[in-house]
Amino acid sequence: MTKALIIGGGIAGAVTAMALQKAGITPVICEAYDTGADDIGAFLTIMRNGTNALRAVEAHQPVIDAGFPATDIEVLDGTGTRLALNPMRSDAHTLRRSVLYRVLHDEAGRRGIPLHHGKRLVSASTVDGVTLAEFADGSAAECDLLIGADGIHSAVRGLIDPGAPAPRFTGLTIAYGYTRATSFQPSASAYRMIAGHKAFFGYTTAPDGETWWFSRAPELDSTTATKQHFIDLLAEDDTPSAEIVRSTDDLFITNAFDVPETAHWHNDSMALVGDAAHAASPAAGQGASMALEDSVILAMCLRDIADRRAAFEKYTEIRRPRVERLVAESAALGNTQNRRTVMPGSPERHWLYDHEIDWAERIA
Ligand SMILES: Cc1cc2nc3c(=O)[nH]c(=O)nc-3n(C[C@H](O)[C@H](O)[C@H](O)COP(=O)(O)OP(=O)(O)OC[C@H]3O[C@@H](n4cnc5c(N)ncnc54)[C@H](O)[C@@H]3O)c2cc1C
Repeated sequence: MTKALIIGGGIAGAVTAMALQKAGITPVICEAYDTGADDIGAFLTIMRNGTNALRAVEAHQPVIDAGFPATDIEVLDGTGTRLALNPMRSDAHTLRRSVLYRVLHDEAGRRGIPLHHGKRLVSASTVDGVTLAEFADGSAAECDLLIGADGIHSAVRGLIDPGAPAPRFTGLTIAYGYTRATSFQPSASAYRMIAGHKAFFGYTTAPDGETWWFSRAPELDSTTATKQHFIDLLAEDDTPSAEIVRSTDDLFITNAFDVPETAHWHNDSMALVGDAAHAASPAAGQGASMALEDSVILAMCLRDIADRRAAFEKYTEIRRPRVERLVAESAALGNTQNRRTVMPGSPERHWLYDHEIDWAERIA
């Protein structure tokens, strides 16, 4: 039986493993960190298209159960004026990233898929169809194919193409936080997003009453940005955003990168999925959902096309136009979001959400 080594135990890694197993390939996941959730501060929303991809491999229910529904988005400007109320096309779910990792790992484990922690890939080479992967701890493993699900700073991308461009700083610094304060009006919709005068802000209320928020701001840097920087940027807006930040004890601050174009997503024995192949600025809220789509389509191509290189080529042909359109649109949104069509949820983005994957369909 074909053995696949999946590098990276994140969102794409876990689901690629489940999809490959369903396609008759034996997967093993190798994750660099000792735990799969180092950035426990962040949360994300799996959009309808991402939930559809999970459904194709029957992995949707644990994710739905662990999150809460994101049903609609109210868009305001900095004066507090409502610009739009966008329905979310159903089946979108918000959850903490660490929880998403955990439920996907649990589900992979339940299916008997091995996940090895502390395995950071440093190099790989293929001789006579057998790929040898080498790890930072000195160990090595052989496989028939190697899948790079190792995120935006992918090592596998560099092995496939040493000339691949490095991730690009989008110019945006992002803060996340959680607060139980009740000194501000909670959002009446599932999400409230505010295209403020100087920064973008979004918040939602979890079922237990806790407010989850994020803000995207230009001209900052995660190494020096502070809570006060975000309060100052949001203070001009006639909305609760500055108050929400003020009431938050711990902020998680990071710079946002994207990978707009990767010339080579594969060679004869290795292929990339998720952020390793293409990473969108978080403005679109679609990176995880796109990674899930990649995972399932790659497995379907390997299931239906006997020649491995041809399968990888077909996978790239199917996926590239969709993800590159997303990355470009997300980068264009930047911080000064188009106020009515602000992603996510806007009617102009239904090409993203309405995407269906049918596992029973044969890939020609
Ligand atoms: C601030 C922020 C907010 C976001 N919000 C959203 C959102 O709301 N909705 C959404 O859909 N997307 C969102 N995204 C994007 C989303 O997080 C990514 O697109 C998604 O995590 C990609 O999944 P992945 O599995 O490809 O990569 P990751 O989730 O990054 O997983 C990669 C894994 O590979 C491991 N790894 C890395 N290098 C190696 C190596 N050499 N050897 C072994 N393992 C390795 C890492 O430790 C990690 O576990 C956001 C991103 C950011 C930065």
